[in-house]
Amino acid sequence: MAIESRNPFNNEVVKTFEEETESQISQKIDLAQNTYLDWKKTNFTHRKELMLKTAVLLRDRKEQYANLMTIEMGKAKREAIAEIEKCALACGYYAGNAEKFLSNKILDVPEGEAYVAHDPIGIVLAVMPWNFPFWQVFRFLAPNLMAGNVGLLKHASNVPQCALAIQEVLLDAGFPKGCFQTLLISSSKVNMILDDDRVKAATLTGSEEAGSKVAERSSKNLKKTVLELGGSDPFIVLKDADIKEAAKTGAKARMINNGQSCIAAKRFILEKSIADEFLSYFKVEFENIKIGDPADDNFDYGAMAREDLAKELEDQVERSVEKGAKILIGGNRNKAFFDPTILTDVKPGMPAYEEELFGPVAVILIANDEKHAIELANDSRFGLGGSLWSKDIEKAKKLVREVESGAVYINKLMASHPAVPFGGVKMSGYGRELSEMGIKEFVNQKTVWVA
Ligand code: NAP
Repeated sequence: MAIESRNPFNNEVVKTFEEETESQISQKIDLAQNTYLDWKKTNFTHRKELMLKTAVLLRDRKEQYANLMTIEMGKAKREAIAEIEKCALACGYYAGNAEKFLSNKILDVPEGEAYVAHDPIGIVLAVMPWNFPFWQVFRFLAPNLMAGNVGLLKHASNVPQCALAIQEVLLDAGFPKGCFQTLLISSSKVNMILDDDRVKAATLTGSEEAGSKVAERSSKNLKKTVLELGGSDPFIVLKDADIKEAAKTGAKARMINNGQSCIAAKRFILEKSIADEFLSYFKVEFENIKIGDPADDNFDYGAMAREDLAKELEDQVERSVEKGAKILIGGNRNKAFFDPTILTDVKPGMPAYEEELFGPVAVILIANDEKHAIELANDSRFGLGGSLWSKDIEKAKKLVREVESGAVYINKLMASHPAVPFGGVKMSGYGRELSEMGIKEFVNQKTVWVA
């Protein structure tokens, strides 16, 4: 696919870009490496100053950068502004905490003094998706630049303007040019970067297929990877939950980012006795979604990020309906727009049961009891996030330990936060981003023992 900005709401090509050549990539790796040799010697006070300046610039430019996201991938402008603010929050969080997180960890040893020091490792490659075009990148770059690493970004091919804007804001904040560089390249050029000895590690957020390709090449080169992949998060509603509140939050959790979030609630697992009540509220929430131009604040949803993605979702829904699933509401596509849809009567063997539905389609599953609800939640290849709704918090805390996923929120919308570890198990990937765990993924945890 060409590197172009195409507005999915009206299908207009806004800008196109020449793909960078192998020699341009090599020059950028040279610059990254040379910059790293100086950058790793800078102190936390200096890095903190630049990171805080980045946060200020992001907030000053939030309208401008939010517009880029809305134009390139159709995110509602309101959500795009919130995304920029979240990036500024992450910059502030790591500016404030990196030094503490990376301070020496004293070890209890039989003699002498021993500790773990945290040294930077060098160039880290980030391969990122289009769905949160700023946030996915900032949750990588804020901890890594604070840790003394430098970054190269291969962003998704449909968000080049966002990718360039991120490079721009860091430069304007005063980061040296080689600290963070955007590469406008197709995925076929990623291997060349992974094969370069100076590139020490890679992080990828995206599909299983892309994740396994990058992990395979990295492992051939004995390089560490962090993979944040797909999810089919369960949203479990037990009979003792606040049903109305669960339905309201559930609809929001499904429709976040036009349904295109890895941690969107995708499978709604309802205890049988409250299923009808939940669905009556849930359907009204879907009927009330305001559809129109995402650049206009009066609307919630205008289009998915690309027409091919909407077609893929349509195919998954159609194949599920052929196998007996029922459409409670929605089900139609028009170019890149897919109706907010609720699917009932979903059974094993249907795409809606087995696969990730990366768009505005909610899958309803009915559980006989709590035990069955957990079994259904775990009957998935994925294990990213999830949420569980019950007024009995002690019971809920016990039950969430049985859910096979990287996180479960109780009576709360699943969303990432800089202070909270983020990542999956099973086919959702491995490693953690954000919090203290995230900044330690790409540092050399060096043991020092003094006699
Ligand atoms: P994708 O096709 O895997 O793309 C993600 C990134 O990987 C893009 O930059 C893409 O470049 C690149 N890429 C694709 N194939 C590659 C290959 N063979 N080698 C190297 N790079 C490759 O994913 P998507 O469909 O855009 O994104 C949706 C998926 O991401 C969903 O499954 C979603 O759940 C997941 N996701 C996960 C998280 C998380 O934190 N766990 C967050 C957001 C999204 P091109 O654009 O040039 O192809």
